[in-house]
Amino acid sequence: MTDRLEEAAQILKRSRFTTAFTGAGISVESGIPSFRGQDGLWEKYDPKVLDLQYFLSNPVESWKVIREIFYDFIGAAKPNHAHLVLARMEEEGMLGSTITQNIDNLHQEAGLLMVSEFHGNSKRIRCLQCDRVYHSLDISLENLPPTCRECGGVLKPDFVFFGEAIPQQPLGEAYRVASLSEAFLIIGTTGEVMPANQIPLIAKEYGATIIEINPEPSNYTEHITDIFLQGKATVIMQSLEKLLFPPALNDNQDGVD
Ligand code: NAD
Repeated sequence: MTDRLEEAAQILKRSRFTTAFTGAGISVESGIPSFRGQDGLWEKYDPKVLDLQYFLSNPVESWKVIREIFYDFIGAAKPNHAHLVLARMEEEGMLGSTITQNIDNLHQEAGLLMVSEFHGNSKRIRCLQCDRVYHSLDISLENLPPTCRECGGVLKPDFVFFGEAIPQQPLGEAYRVASLSEAFLIIGTTGEVMPANQIPLIAKEYGATIIEINPEPSNYTEHITDIFLQGKATVIMQSLEKLLFPPALNDNQDGVD
């Protein structure tokens, strides 16, 4: 593992443009479960509540579950060390772009600026009738469904539901940065959700070296991953941080002159 970590760090240091591609796994250690797998959200809830057609016909039923998962629960989560190391990499010029499938806003809260929200963001709530966008904190979820103060239309979280298209802007941006990347860092995704799962394939096709962090092999591991760093996002990112940003010599108080 040490060798692979060192190799990954060298690739990240040398790369002239690096993209991070993240999924639900990066936020698991912030206390937000993933959708799939053991303890995943779909063990407890029915995914139909995030189906667009179901939501349009049953907004109250959908909103009850959405409120519990995305506002009571995700609302209280904080960025973890994996998000923070990505932010440090961006600040130090080692990370050009982050594409996230997550809707929890934790990358942005960690300080990342160049984030492409492939599936939207739960902090925004949009009116289905007049398109007005509210910050989630400005909307009371006591009476469901919440409605627009301007036109009375039903409000919907501004993230992508099943059966909804990916907005053009993040889609185009993801293709663009994937094709530019020399290194491509995948963190915590199964690679099952279409069309997001195609983005790493584009990076690979255009010649990026694929580094992947996940406690379990994913759909990518056997097929396109060059360096698989098996483990939890916070643990691996903390190890990478030490290699990417070693303490300066004069920081070592115990060192001999
Ligand atoms: P997924 O639920 O399909 O898979 C999660 C992946 O994370 C798995 O491969 C798992 O092995 C890995 N994982 C688990 N613990 C980890 C850890 N500590 N460190 C690193 N990896 C870990 O997630 P997905 O592929 O991202 O797709 C699900 C869809 O649902 C995406 O669109 C995602 O945005 C959305 N989602 C978002 C959130 C969120 O915003 N936090 C939460 C759940 C689902």
